[in-house]
Order: sequence, then structure tokens, then C-alpha cells
Amino acid sequence: MGRIKEKRIKRLKKIRIWPSVVGFFFMLLVLCMIMGVGVLALLYETVSRKLMEGYEYSVKAATLYEKQIAQGEFDAENRFYLYMDTIDEIKEVSVFNTEGNEAWSSGGIYPDMENVLEDVTLLPGSNSTFDIILEQMDGIFHIDEDHQLMPNASMFQKVDFLKVFLDDSKTVVGFDIWFLVPIENGTACVLNELSVFGYEIKMMLLIMVALLIMVAVFTLHYIISTIRMLISQTRSNKIIYMDMLTGGDNWLYFTKKSAKLIRKTGVKRKYAVIHLRMKKYRSFCTCFGINKGEELIERLYYAIKKQLHHKETMAHYEKADFGLLLIYTDELELASRLEGMIQTLEGVFPNIKLKFQIGVCEVDHPHANVEELYNNALLAREMHGDDAEQNIAFFNIEMSKQRIWERKVEDDMERALQNKEFQVYLQPKFSTGEELLGGAEALVRWIHPTEGFVPPNKFIPIFEQNGFILKLDDFMLEEVAKQQAKWISEGWKVVPISVNVSRAHFTREDLAEHICEIVDKYQVPHDVIELELTESAFFDEKEILLSTVKKLRDSGFTVSMDDFGAGYSSLNSLKELSLDVLKIDADFFRGSDSLERGMLIVTEVISLAKKLNMKIVAEGIESREQVDFLREQECDLIQGYYFAKPMPLTEFEKNYKNVEREEING
Ligand code: C2E
Ligand code: CA
Ligand code: CA
Repeated sequence: MGRIKEKRIKRLKKIRIWPSVVGFFFMLLVLCMIMGVGVLALLYETVSRKLMEGYEYSVKAATLYEKQIAQGEFDAENRFYLYMDTIDEIKEVSVFNTEGNEAWSSGGIYPDMENVLEDVTLLPGSNSTFDIILEQMDGIFHIDEDHQLMPNASMFQKVDFLKVFLDDSKTVVGFDIWFLVPIENGTACVLNELSVFGYEIKMMLLIMVALLIMVAVFTLHYIISTIRMLISQTRSNKIIYMDMLTGGDNWLYFTKKSAKLIRKTGVKRKYAVIHLRMKKYRSFCTCFGINKGEELIERLYYAIKKQLHHKETMAHYEKADFGLLLIYTDELELASRLEGMIQTLEGVFPNIKLKFQIGVCEVDHPHANVEELYNNALLAREMHGDDAEQNIAFFNIEMSKQRIWERKVEDDMERALQNKEFQVYLQPKFSTGEELLGGAEALVRWIHPTEGFVPPNKFIPIFEQNGFILKLDDFMLEEVAKQQAKWISEGWKVVPISVNVSRAHFTREDLAEHICEIVDKYQVPHDVIELELTESAFFDEKEILLSTVKKLRDSGFTVSMDDFGAGYSSLNSLKELSLDVLKIDADFFRGSDSLERGMLIVTEVISLAKKLNMKIVAEGIESREQVDFLREQECDLIQGYYFAKPMPLTEFEKNYKNVEREEING
């Protein structure tokens, strides 16, 4: 997979939850801070004001008590209740003597003042009991010499202070604070219970509740949207890994999962990547329509999937190609398992026998690239050939070397043609009787700038595949025509030179005209050019072949059938096509076991060809015995290493120019 594609997928898959989590907590923090600061400010404001007020009321109560005591007419019941009635916040008043005993109280529950006052009296020489008492009360607030209440700097400690004096039983919202006020003569104190029921506290609580609701709504919203995001994320992940055609796992999933499985491969478990192709899928679609074609792919997918074992995976690749990752123990076992798989798949579509081919690439290390392995498996299948009987091919390293070479050839071929790296070599043909030069075959050689001398079997098949052979054959024909023209102009009685015409040419209807045009450019008589066709051309456009051969012969060219007897030759081609020359393939003269039979066939083929009025050329002749045998059989010409190997034009010219030779044409 390309890097850009991988990045794009990563971006799609990325769960973008973290930024929102961070954002959420940040928002929460900000809200809490605002709330906290607001509440604290309000608390500070309210409490300090209440404390001031409370203290003032307490001082008034103390003064009142003091005055009455001084006048000896203490009417606490009336005066104090009156006082308490006029000031809303004061709920209870108690008077203690210096021993901490209650002198008078309006009721209520108050802190254990005995201990507090004991501590006060324990301090000798203190004329400011409040300081000490209040310091013991955690230094919440300070009363100076002038009985002024000063709020302490530390607000938080105030909470502790409030806790000390808190009395939940009496208040719903707010809290009670007890104040201790000295009486001038030092005999008693007044404690004033003040309830901080403030409107502010209510407001504060209201704001807090509102803020809490806001936070709750916000949190809920956040949780819902996060869940939604996760759901859509899961959905999009599913889509990323889903093959729309089969509804199963797609290629991306296959490569990821395979890579993961391969990485975990132990010594015991071996994996192989499989490329499986249904042959002639396009024909199937043409016959039954695209919908049926898609249905077939889906059926195949599930039929294959059914056969997978634990820790194996597969996916549809494209068209009718599937990729599989299978566990295996040895090649034989894997091959038989795949055979079984093919047999099952062949019957997937009722009444139609489907055909499959498989390429296998064994995984050799845990970090192997799955795509590469798959390509190797595909390459193995391709190299095996479409027509191969065996439908399972195992990849080997030679295959990939061959593929690299093919790429190089394809990269270099155009440049090679322009730079004249292709050269014409001529292999002479000799007569059997006098053993004189009777013709030659033009064979191409590639003088590659870095690879050196490259024989045709290393590039011709590649050119035949990619169509470049058309250009190369034209080049060879033109070079031969040019050479013949030159030799004729130099007064040399030239021999016919044959050029190979690949079967790829027989798709163009004007092939004969095209050949004439090239040759006529050099005004060369057509009879000094021979055209070699292979029998395989019969498998293609037969009509074009027949009409082209006729036109070529009519315009004076000699046309020969090359490699007769090689591959699947059929005598039928001789029946349908009138040709001038039959070139008997070198294979008849090879092998020791079948040599005798080969010779027998050659004898009969020669006699047959003679009856059909054809000349005979035997190819690949390497020994004297072969030459003698062919002479006995009245074969016309011999081409082979026994006489000469293909050679450059200059060498051919040097060896054969103005040498006496046999007239074979005509
Ligand atoms: P071919 O047309 O059958 O050419 C004959 C091949 O047999 C040549 O191989 C030649 O060198 C080889 N040969 C000749 N005598 C002997 C012999 O005594 N012993 C052995 N072992 N081999 C012998 P070459 O030149 O390597 O060419 C191979 C094939 O490449 C040719 O087979 C032909 O099919 C193709 N080819 C070569 N040049 C061209 C071309 O210009 N165009 C096309 N289309 N094909 C070409
Ligand atoms: Ca040939
Ligand atoms: Ca041949």
C-alpha cells in the first residue's frame, strides 16, 4: 500500500476522542474555577459582613447587660427578648460568668464555653481575652484593643471556624455563629448566637445549583456526542475494511490482518499467500451479465471463506481474483488442499463448470510484505501460463528475476531501436547437393550497452507479449531490404534472405501492402525476400492470414512455414495454405530415443512437401550424418551450425560475396 493511501486511511480511522476529552476537562476545570471563585467571593463577602454585624449586635447586647447590671435592675427576660426581637439575625443570647458558668440564657445549644473560658483565665495578666480566645479558635478573625472585628486574611480557615460553631439542627440554609463579647468589669461574657440565613447564601446556592445543572447538561451532551462519535467511528472503520462487492473483508483488511498473522508466525506455523483467479470471468459476464458476475464473486468469496481454518484470512482483490493467507506444513499438503478448494469452487455455479488457477508464494520471514507476496503468487501463476494443465504454480526467485528482466527490456526497447542496438545477423542456408550458399535467414541480435550481447529468446517472447515485435520485425525487414539493395547495386548476385514475421502481425488486414511498402522503398525485387511465418499464426485471424499470404505470393515474395513440426502442428495448415517453403523444425533431429522416428517423419514430410510443390529447408543441422541423410531425402536447403552460425552482415559479406552458389529460387 502506498504511503499516501496509508496516511489517508490512518486519518480516517483516527479516533478524535482525545482532543474532545481534553477540551471537556478543560471546560469543566474553567467552570469549576469560576464557580469556586464566585462561591468563595460570595462566601467571603457574606460571612465577613455577617460576622461584623453579629459582633456589633453582640456588643450591643453586652452593653445592655452591663448597663442593667450596673443599675442593679437586670430585666433580662424582657430587655433581652426585646432586643432579640428587634434584630432578626440574633436567635439566642447567653451570659456566662468568668468561671464559664451560665449566668443567664435565652436557650439554645452552644459550644462548651467552660473549657474555652478556662483557657482564657489560665493566661495570667491578659487584658485582652478575646485575642487569645479567638486565636485558639484557629485565628479566624481578630478583635483588636478597640473591640474592632477584623476579618482574617485566610478565608479558608473561616470555614473551619464556622464548622466549630455550626449547628445544623436549627438552620436549613446557613449556619449559626456564636460571638464572645467581654463585659467591661470582667465578670461576665455575652454569647450571641447569630444565624447567617442570608439571602446571599440562598443566591449563592441557587447559582451553584444552576451551575451544577449546566455542568450536568454539558457533561451529558458531551457523553452523548462522544458515544455517537464512537459509533460512527466504528461504522466508518467497518466501511474502511468492507468489500462492497462481497460484503466481506476487503483487500486492506486482508493485508493488515495477514501482516499481523505473519508477524506472529512461530517455527511450527508456516504461511503461504495465495493468488486465486477464476479464468474467463469476462466471458462469464458477457454471457450472463454483470449482475450475475457480481453474484458469482460473492458466492466464490463465501465458498472460499468456508474452507479457511483458524488464523487464516482472505479477501476479494479485483475482478475474479482472490487473495488468501493459508497455514501449511509442506508443499504437497498445500497443493492437495488447494486442489480440493478448486474442486469445490468449480461447482459453485450450477450447470456451469468454472475454471481456476492458483499462484502460491510461501512466506519466508515474519516481516515480509503481504502485497509483495501476493504479487509473487500472481507472477507464479502468470509465468505458469494460461493454458498450463496444472492449475497450481509455486513461486520461485527465478520468476522474479525474469520479471525484473522483462521490466528492463520494456524500459530499454524503444531507446534500443533508435540507437540501433538491434543488429541483423545472417545465418546462411546451404544446398544439400553441392553444399553451396542458397539463402540466409535474418536473425536479430541486441547489443545492449550494459548487458552486452543478448540472444533473441531473452527478448523476442517479451516483445511478442507487448507488441513491440511489430516495430522490430519492420526494422529487420527494412534492414534486409536495404542490404539487398546495396548488394544488388554493387553487382552481387544476391541470395534470398528470409525474415521472420511474428504472428502478432496477422491482426492487420493491410499487412501485405505494409510489407510491400517497406521493401519497395529500396526498390528491391520481391523474390530476394522470403517471409517466414510460424504455424501458430493459424490460431489467430485465419482469414487475414490466408488473404495476406495470397497477396504476398501474388506480388512475388516467397513465403515459408517456419518451425514445422514444433508444438502442435497440424497437417491441416498445409491443406489450407499454399506456401513456397517448408522449414522442418530442429526438434526432429534431436533426442536419441525418438531420433529414428523423427527421421522417418522427416522422410515422409519431405516427400509430402514435394508433392505439394514446396521446397524444404531443414533447420538446426549440426552433424555430417544429418546432412548426408537430408541429401538422400532430397531436402533442398540446410540451415545449421554444421555449416555456419548466424553472423553479422560484414562477416557474411566477407565470407560469401562473389562466391559461387546455387540458384535455388525459381
Ligand atoms: P527461428 O526463426 O526458428 O530461428 C532459428 C534459430 O535456430 C536461431 O536462433 C538460430 O540461431 C538457431 N539455430 C540455427 N542453427 C542451429 C543449430 O545448428 N543448432 C542450434 N542449437 N540452433 C541453431 P536464434 O537466432 O536464437 O533465434 C531464436 C528465435 O528467435 C528464432 O527462431 C525466431 O523465432 C526468433 N527471432 C529471431 N530473430 C527474429 C526476428 O527478427 N523477428 C522475429 N519475429 N523473431 C525472431
Ligand atoms: Ca525463422
Ligand atoms: Ca525456425
